[in-house]
Amino acid sequence: MTEDAMRSDVEAGMTGLAVRLRGVTKTYDSGVAALGPLDLDIRRGEFVSLLGPSGCGKSTALRLIAGLAPPTSGTVRLARQAAESRGGHAIGFVFQEPTLMPWADVAANVRLPLTLANVPADEADRRVMAALAQVGLAEFARSYPRELSGGMKMRVSLARALVTDPDILLMDEPFAALDEITRFRLNNDLLALWRNLRKTVIFVTHSVFESVYLSQRVIVMSARPGRIAAEFRIDAPEPRGEEFRTSADYVGYCRTVSAALAPAYEGQRA
Ligand code: ADP
Ligand code: MG
Repeated sequence: MTEDAMRSDVEAGMTGLAVRLRGVTKTYDSGVAALGPLDLDIRRGEFVSLLGPSGCGKSTALRLIAGLAPPTSGTVRLARQAAESRGGHAIGFVFQEPTLMPWADVAANVRLPLTLANVPADEADRRVMAALAQVGLAEFARSYPRELSGGMKMRVSLARALVTDPDILLMDEPFAALDEITRFRLNNDLLALWRNLRKTVIFVTHSVFESVYLSQRVIVMSARPGRIAAEFRIDAPEPRGEEFRTSADYVGYCRTVSAALAPAYEGQRA
């Protein structure tokens, strides 16, 4: 990080933090109060899940953090990022749908953010190949989305988010549509990436099991408008793997988190 960036973080009271939300609310033009008020600090390098029922405002929270929509009130502050001084983006976003361009091959899909940022061709080539290697798709640069499985498409989407080397990765139910075994593999690969790259990850899911498996901290949200109902630190040793997934500790965490989540489903029909 540059000295300037460090100074501005100190001035903003952001030392050690990646994201700070204060009194954040979002009411859509339709009048729907989707979120908040929300106060939330996320540490640099932390892996945090936002867990809550469908419609509680999780995607809204991510969009506000990404700056894709303004809050109705309150402040969203990101640490001034090291990525900016590298010419990168502060944020990488992985959506629930892989949203790939069907007419473009895998490399061209991953390259899109670099093309938009006018990164020189040879550097872009290098970064695209590095990102594909990170997600285990180096061999598939010339394949087309239609030739890929759902899990592989999601890997392409992840590579596209990583190619700008963002400090913060926002992931909106990225694995919800995948079968369980594929999801487990992507969970493990994501954890390995997180350990290697040390990005801040904010991961949205409605799965208790997934949130506990992946996160250092699980934020349980209330029904709409989404507020923080509870939060849990998941103090399992790293690296996590099948041993953790089948452990008594894991089951215990899942039970506790489920109990905190249950009220958010009250009044909803199954
Ligand atoms: P989640 O991701 O937890 O399912 P969302 O953040 O997508 O929840 O939505 C929260 C609430 O806001 C829902 O009631 C949804 O219908 C509403 N909502 C989301 N986006 C918009 C929008 N662009 N305009 C109006 N209402 C919206
Ligand atoms: Mg959503």
